[in-house]
Amino acid sequence: MTASTVSAAPTAPTAPTRLRLTDRWGRTADDLRISLIDKCNLRCTYCMPAEGLPWLKKDELLTAEEAVRLADIGVRVLGVKDIRFTGGEPLVRKDLADIVRGVRTMHPEVSISITTNGIGLDKRIDELVDAGLTRVNVSLDTVDRETFARVTRRDRLPQVIAGLEAAKASGLEPVKVNAVAMRGVNDEGVVDLTTWCLDHGYQLRFIEQMPLDADHSWARKNLVSAAEIRQRLSTVYELTEDPVPRGSAPAQLWEVRPRGASPDSTALGKVGIIASVTESFCAACSRTRITADGRVRSCLFSQEETDLMGLLRGGADDEDVARTWATAMWGKPRAYGSDAVTLNDPEYVQPERTMSAIGG
Ligand code: SAM
Ligand code: SF4
Repeated sequence: MTASTVSAAPTAPTAPTRLRLTDRWGRTADDLRISLIDKCNLRCTYCMPAEGLPWLKKDELLTAEEAVRLADIGVRVLGVKDIRFTGGEPLVRKDLADIVRGVRTMHPEVSISITTNGIGLDKRIDELVDAGLTRVNVSLDTVDRETFARVTRRDRLPQVIAGLEAAKASGLEPVKVNAVAMRGVNDEGVVDLTTWCLDHGYQLRFIEQMPLDADHSWARKNLVSAAEIRQRLSTVYELTEDPVPRGSAPAQLWEVRPRGASPDSTALGKVGIIASVTESFCAACSRTRITADGRVRSCLFSQEETDLMGLLRGGADDEDVARTWATAMWGKPRAYGSDAVTLNDPEYVQPERTMSAIGG
């Protein structure tokens, strides 16, 4: 064997350089949301039009292998710590448990969660937990059946409640409920929903409605603000700011006690309020998003996307994919998809994609 062949002897597989998803504003994203599908079995008025949307074709969606590969690159190369699968409705994907298992097998330490409308969760929760799911958020805006049917344009409240019960029975903790409060629709039911969640052991989080609806009917004047939600809850409950530091979490958590109770007494539970419109938390944002067709969105409100699917299908290696992803995140806008400071600024333009197509 010559010296030259020795020096050219097999090298250890090159570990990709460890990059980070940092941006020009000093933020680093380590919280990944992957949308697995744009389709949904509900038609929430703040998210989708009644007739649905032109859905992506099957071959335009990330395959299970591609979704797992992107999650793996996110964790192994780019420092992602939390992965959430969303949509559209992630439970519409029959291979959801395969995707969760694929990521879990490679990354035993990472948090893997889903955001779901809960329909069919009762039949899938065991396989999902077995596959390695760590947390679940179920979206539920009201516990009044008629109001539910009005918001979602489908009469399916009992299925969502069955999904929630199954999630609780599976031992996942905490089971979170996401609710969007809407003027003249469910705002009067804010206290009822909170009481119901406290009674059933679910951690409720209200989200201010954002202008990401297909109908472009969002209007600031109809916004049910975080302040208003707090004020409504305060008619029945004492709210005390959660002592646990909030970090980059979008929800401000409040300990809930009966009205007049001492702050030293045991809390009934916690409620979160995400003031996505009125109290921007963009400066602490740690999110990076991949759409169901494999594009990076650095911000929920972005006007721009960067294609990773083409790279995956074109044979790019992990390092190339990671660098393209990191470059896309470097350009992350300051706030609300632009340099806007609030959603009232003229710089703010509603993105073309709706929440269902972005992956909320
Ligand atoms: N289908 C699943 C669900 O409903 O949980 C996952 C996708 S959905 C787009 C994710 C979250 O986005 C839900 O909690 C939903 O309530 C929220 N969402 C959708 N449109 C919204 C909007 N315009 N403003 C605020 N939240 C919204
Ligand atoms: Fe479907 Fe979720 Fe959008 Fe409702 S919010 S239409 S459940 S994707």
